[in-house]
Amino acid sequence: MTIPCRKCGRPAIIYQKYSGLHLCRDHFCEDIERKVKLTIRQKYPVGKNETIAVAFSGGKDSSVALYLMNMIFGQRRDIRIVAITIDEGIEGYRNLSVERTREFTKKLGIEHIVRSYKEEYGKTMDEIVSEKNLKENFSSGERKEIGPCSYCGVLRKKILNRVASEIGASKLVIGHNLDDEAQTIMLNHLRGDVEKMVRFSSVTPLENFVLRIKPLRKIPEREVALYARLHDMPMELTACPHSYGALRKEVRGMLNNFEISHPGTKYSLVRGFDTLVPMVAAALPESPMTICRICGEPCNDNVCQACRMLEKTVMDE
Ligand code: SF4
Ligand SMILES: [Zn+2]
Ligand SMILES: [Zn+2]
Repeated sequence: MTIPCRKCGRPAIIYQKYSGLHLCRDHFCEDIERKVKLTIRQKYPVGKNETIAVAFSGGKDSSVALYLMNMIFGQRRDIRIVAITIDEGIEGYRNLSVERTREFTKKLGIEHIVRSYKEEYGKTMDEIVSEKNLKENFSSGERKEIGPCSYCGVLRKKILNRVASEIGASKLVIGHNLDDEAQTIMLNHLRGDVEKMVRFSSVTPLENFVLRIKPLRKIPEREVALYARLHDMPMELTACPHSYGALRKEVRGMLNNFEISHPGTKYSLVRGFDTLVPMVAAALPESPMTICRICGEPCNDNVCQACRMLEKTVMDE
């Protein structure tokens, strides 16, 4: 039986349990685009003559983020959009998606910069993982917190910030969807790391850091995936061989179960966190930014997290 779209009566392609709406293709896309525009307007207003960098891995989330930023701002002559792809050096995974990112940016006519861990750090992610036995240590429980993804995330963020700074970007778009946001909030609570999370959720940029913005943070993952499929966008074909986020997987499962029995849970978690951020931020002591003595990049210690991780790699050899 075909269920009609609540707005126009044509066949629906999705049911949004949290809103109670059945939507057809056109009204579903319109809904996504409206929510993304609203998030940008309310949380990260874009002014005149801005350069917007988009972290573009080639997966569904960053593809949708790039596509929508281009749809919303691509016609404005005073706005420059630049996609940045980081090649971590993961054989059988990233080398395939880098090719797809080139095709997609070419198709959209968007400026594209590709940087790699090898160029920046002298090592690929595959080499870092095997030098440090990251997978073995992590899965054997020796290093509960520092798995491959913790290293990889820090190293990637550093290059993205540097490249965005170099091109004069005022904003750096990250394709996190609602599920990613809800999981990160819950994970940081579970790790007792609320302070870090609040500092990096600021809507004003930290000194020397390009403001990270997340226009998809109100869109559930399955809707981002559907939007990507409807627009023939690149999707992740293979899984990263180093992905070991055991705790994140548990949290993801827990939140998905909650969402089934209590639709709207993920939205509530993100909304509640947004209400807390300004209050907690006002109570936090100032955290003066300094410059890393090894690489000269901004950080809030003498040595930035990336250099500490790479130094450890060298020291352990
Ligand atoms: S899954 Fe983890 S190791 Fe693989 S690319 Fe993503 S962050 Fe890096
Ligand atoms: Zn409709
Ligand atoms: Zn450094």
